Amino acid sequence: MDERRQAQQQSEPAHTRMEQLIAELNQYNYHYYTLDNPIVSDKEYDRIYDELVALEQESGTILPDSPTQRVGGETLSGFEPHRHLARLWSLDKAQDMVSLEAWHQRVLRLITDYNTKNPDKQLPDPSFVVELKFDGLTLNLTYTDGQLVQASTRGNGVMGESILPQVKTIQSVPLTIPYKDGTIEVQGEGIMNLSVLQAYNETAAEPLKNARNAAAGALRNLNPQVTASRKLSAYFYNIGYAERKIFADHKEMLQFLRDNKFKVNPYAEYFASMDELKVELLRIQERRASLDFLIDGAVVKLTDMRTREVLGYTDKFPRWAVAFKFEAEETSTILESVSWNVGRTGKVTPLARVEAVELAGVTVQNCTLNNIGDIERKNLKHALGSRVFIRRSNDVIPEILGKVPDEPEGEVIVFPTTCPACGSQLELRGAHLFCNNKLGCKPQIVARLSHFASRDAMDIETFSEKTAEQLYDELEVRDPADLFGLTFEQLVGLNRFGEKKANNLLQAFEVSKTRELAAFLNALGIPNTGKTTTRVLAEHYRSLQAIMQATPEELVNLPDVGSIVADSIAGFFQDPLQRSSIERMLDYGVVPQVAAEEEKVAISTDSFFYGKTVVLTGTLYQLTRDDATAKLEACGAKVTGSVSKKTDLVIAGEKAGSKLAKAEQLGIPVITDENELIELLNEALGQ
Ligand code: NAD
Repeated sequence: MDERRQAQQQSEPAHTRMEQLIAELNQYNYHYYTLDNPIVSDKEYDRIYDELVALEQESGTILPDSPTQRVGGETLSGFEPHRHLARLWSLDKAQDMVSLEAWHQRVLRLITDYNTKNPDKQLPDPSFVVELKFDGLTLNLTYTDGQLVQASTRGNGVMGESILPQVKTIQSVPLTIPYKDGTIEVQGEGIMNLSVLQAYNETAAEPLKNARNAAAGALRNLNPQVTASRKLSAYFYNIGYAERKIFADHKEMLQFLRDNKFKVNPYAEYFASMDELKVELLRIQERRASLDFLIDGAVVKLTDMRTREVLGYTDKFPRWAVAFKFEAEETSTILESVSWNVGRTGKVTPLARVEAVELAGVTVQNCTLNNIGDIERKNLKHALGSRVFIRRSNDVIPEILGKVPDEPEGEVIVFPTTCPACGSQLELRGAHLFCNNKLGCKPQIVARLSHFASRDAMDIETFSEKTAEQLYDELEVRDPADLFGLTFEQLVGLNRFGEKKANNLLQAFEVSKTRELAAFLNALGIPNTGKTTTRVLAEHYRSLQAIMQATPEELVNLPDVGSIVADSIAGFFQDPLQRSSIERMLDYGVVPQVAAEEEKVAISTDSFFYGKTVVLTGTLYQLTRDDATAKLEACGAKVTGSVSKKTDLVIAGEKAGSKLAKAEQLGIPVITDENELIELLNEALGQ
């Protein structure tokens, strides 16, 4: 066979495959860009896209209609088209350091070529800026003589959809700006903060699956009231067109944006060397889960504007920038089955088993479904055997977000009526199922014992969940009080227990008898009550007996206690089972300790925090939560767990959720900068 014919035969299957991929990708693009309702995850989309790029490179052929050659999607017919004054682009992507380096080398080559040909117009050595790659909807705002006159989507890069009324609902978008010299177009990303999404989903009839689609869907909704209800935000990072203004570099441009009151993300780091830049990319990846908005990577850009102009654009992206994409956090898989697990309080929660799938570096097989209310709200009741979207952030167990649109109905998830562990009748309280068999349901008891012994509770060293299980099975331990009645003879006779281990455990039980009152209360596992509340109780009442007698009316006056928690605490201490368990512990010599009043250090009453009721939320980096609480208390603040009208101050770390949203709603002052918090603490503590 001659060579030409052979090549043709080889390329035929490639050609067919390319056609298939293009058809598939164009269908996905339609759902993603036009309908804002994707039917595959970005991870799955990118895999198919990359296969197409590889085939195009191998075969040297690019078929018409290939999505590798054009930006974005079609415009919706309900919106007026807007022609951008300068084109908008997509971004080339690098998924790993090797392809980032390949981009870098390409840039160096282009600069060298230019410099060789233009010895009198040398470009400077390249320097880079790294920004976050926000995952939302591109916005292009037009200002004429200082007035916002138009706002549009990216569309296909040349024409977008006019969405001015929708964009005006974003409170942080300035309607007028100080710069009044002709027309400029400013680009950024419309986003929905994750805390806002969470708060929205708490009451929404139909929860939104993902912040990106929630933002894009809201901005491309013909009714601006719908947009307003989603409380969107936006970050701006580029001036695409300016009639009478030029910038020497990126820093100058960002400063211009800031001076004109645009919301610019504080993160923009500058680098002269690629090595340092690569280390920084890893750092961003680590911080990703703590941000209150979605990012799907970081963008690396050359800073010098003249170099940008010289390097120019391909049909789809600038040559002077690249998106370093992080591992996807969402994908889709099949929901195979649902099992039901009993927790410490008797709550029965659904755990989904899904077809094994790789996500962010691990194989996922289990996902949470929260509770039966969640299954119903997410429309998953008929989803067994169907394809569902799942999301994983950090090391938390992944969550099922909802069914993939257009998936046929699957089998029904049957809600249990009896406890899967002990067979008792279940009770439905709110959206949750409960097993009330406190004394005979093994997983509940094992979890209760493990919690009792844990570090923030009785801190019984060497006691693990395995120990709890063994004591349940072999020594009939059914209640935390039983632990204090265990003898050396009983323990030493257990499987895998030697003399040393038995003695160590007995010693640890002894030590725990004089734990602080707050830790003891936490160990009891009062429903709806965590570390913060038990500390408030201990500090206020300073005696176990007093707490046991407190009425809900009295309890509700405490800073961290609402009516549900107050009822829960009073109900717990009225339960004869709990009372007898506590009495037995006291008989065994448990004496919860209360710090003597005079031991407390004198507190300066003029400190910023003195007398304030403070709520800590979100992630702090330099201080642990416990450190921050201890320091605030040392300054005379009361640290509580929930935001109410009684709260004076909220300290919001990264990824602060509904508590921050509530604080903003109630107009409570918020500290969002950890450095500022540390400075104030040091000042107050005289350090
Ligand atoms: P892109 O999202 O990879 O990158 C370009 C966009 O990044 C710009 O338009 C801009 O809006 C945004 N951006 C965010 N932060 C930025 C910053 N600091 N500086 C500059 N730009 C910034 O490109 P694209 O063409 O919009 O989308 C392609 C990607 O979208 C795919 O890789 C895929 O992940 C996803 N997609 C998914 C589906 C699906 O069905 N799931 C379909 C189509 C596309």
